[in-house]
Amino acid sequence: MAEYGYNRRQFIRELGISAGAIGLSAYFPAYLHARGVTYRLSIMHTNDTHSRIDPYPEGSSMAGMGGISARMDLLNTIRSESKRSILLDAGDFFQGTPYFNFYQGEVEIRAMQQLGYDAATLGNHDFDGGMDNLFTQLSRAKFPVVCANYSFGRHALAQRCQSAVVIRRDPLKIGVFGLGINPSGLIPPALVPHLTYVDPFEAARRQAQQLRTICGCHMVICLSHLGLGYADDRPSDRQLAQTVPGIDLIVGGHTHSFLDQAEVYTNPIGQRVYVVQAGHSGLRLGKVDWDIKVGKRTEIYPVEASLISIGDSKNLGLGPFKGERPRSLC
Ligand SMILES: [Zn+2]
Repeated sequence: MAEYGYNRRQFIRELGISAGAIGLSAYFPAYLHARGVTYRLSIMHTNDTHSRIDPYPEGSSMAGMGGISARMDLLNTIRSESKRSILLDAGDFFQGTPYFNFYQGEVEIRAMQQLGYDAATLGNHDFDGGMDNLFTQLSRAKFPVVCANYSFGRHALAQRCQSAVVIRRDPLKIGVFGLGINPSGLIPPALVPHLTYVDPFEAARRQAQQLRTICGCHMVICLSHLGLGYADDRPSDRQLAQTVPGIDLIVGGHTHSFLDQAEVYTNPIGQRVYVVQAGHSGLRLGKVDWDIKVGKRTEIYPVEASLISIGDSKNLGLGPFKGERPRSLC
C-alpha cells in the first residue's frame, strides 16, 4: 500500500528498514552502531525536460520559468553546498520545442553534458528522430545512458547504452540502472526497427541483484521511464516498488508527475522503497538527500525530499506549490 506523509515517529520505528534495504534482514537501529561514518548524498533529478532550453516565453502562463541557464545556477548552488551529489535524468529530453525540430537533439545533449549529468535513461520521445539520430546526438556527450530492458541488436546504440552504471562518490558506490517503457503504441515501429523490449521487472530484478552482490553498491537507484502509475495493469513505478526487491529509490518520468513528496512503498521483503518524479519541462529540480552510514554494516536512510522551482516562482502558472521548500520524509 502507498503511504504518504512519512512522520518522524514512523521513521525512527523503521530505522532498521534502512539496513534491510541493502540486503540485511536484521532489524538493527542505526543509533546502536557505535562505529562507522555517515556520509550525506544529494541525489538531484529531472525528467521529461522536452527540449525546453529557454525559459517559458512571455505570454505563457509559466513565463520566465525553467530554462537551462537557471537550472545550471541552481545546480551550482547545490553543488557548492553538498560534498557528494549526483544528477540524473529519467528520459524524454527530446521533443517539445523548435530546438528539437531544427537541431534534432544536439542542443539538448550538449546542454546535459554541460550541466554535468551523471546518468540518464531513455524516454519514448528520445527516439522521435530515429535510432541513428539518437546515437549521433548521444555521441556528443560522455554521460552514461542506462536502459536494462531495451536491446538494440547490432545497432550502434547497443554500444552507447548500458544496463547500469556504478557511480562513485568516495567511499560510496551508487548503482543506477535504467528502465524504458513498452514502445508499443508510443514509438512508431519504423523508428525503432532494432529495438527489442524486455519485461522491465525481470530486468530490474537482475540489475538490482547484480549491483548489490557483484558490484557491492551501498545504494541502488532505478532510473525509470515507465510512468508513476496507471488505472490498468501497465508496468509502473508504483508496481515496480512493490514487486522487485533490492531497489532503494525510483527516479521516475513519463507521466509528468509533480511529486512534492516522495511516495513510500514496501517491497516484497518488507523494505522501504521511495518513488520521486519532478514534473516536466525543467520547471522543477528534484532533490533527495540520504545519509549513508558505512561501517561493519552499511545503513542508508532518507533525510528529506524536495522539488525546487527553476526560474521565477512569481510567474509560476501552477499555483502555490507546497513542495518548493524542502519537506522532510521523517
Ligand atoms: Zn515519455
